[in-house]
Amino acid sequence: MEKTLVILKPCTIQRGLIGEIISRFERKGLQLAGMKMIWLTDNILSEHYAHLKEKPFFQRIKDAMSVCPVIVCCWEGVDAIHVVRQLAGATNGRNAQPGTIRGDFSMSVQENIVHASDSPETAAIELKRFFNDDELFDYRMNNLLATYAND
Ligand code: UDP
Repeated sequence: MEKTLVILKPCTIQRGLIGEIISRFERKGLQLAGMKMIWLTDNILSEHYAHLKEKPFFQRIKDAMSVCPVIVCCWEGVDAIHVVRQLAGATNGRNAQPGTIRGDFSMSVQENIVHASDSPETAAIELKRFFNDDELFDYRMNNLLATYAND
């Protein structure tokens, strides 16, 4: 079982797509382990996007990520990090496959609906960045979709 971080970006909140996007992860069979709305600060954004700090669009991304609050979620399941990245699709919404979240809802590189952790190492760091231990919950789902570990 893995846990991964998803951020519903300001473009998602502004466009009224919160329910639609959460529903995609839910219907896939991932289990929600934590969720909250927060306003991202420049400090946390500089840390979160540190791998892009030399890029010309660094400040632009930080500005776009703080125009309104975001929703941070932790999704859990077998191979959850890979599964969520697959559901999100390619970074550039114009290249993302139809059927993926970005492919269905984004025409932009920057305003691409969600952030999703890209590896187990990043997921662990990112979940610690956005959640305290007591904000993530272990519980059993009746349908056990997220726990198909043996197939
Ligand atoms: N981004 C951008 N222009 C680019 C590349 C990335 O505005 O040329 C933004 C975009 O919002 C992306 C985020 O920076 O989601 C982080 O980029 P990364 O390469 O980590 O892509 P991701 O993992 O989000 O697909």
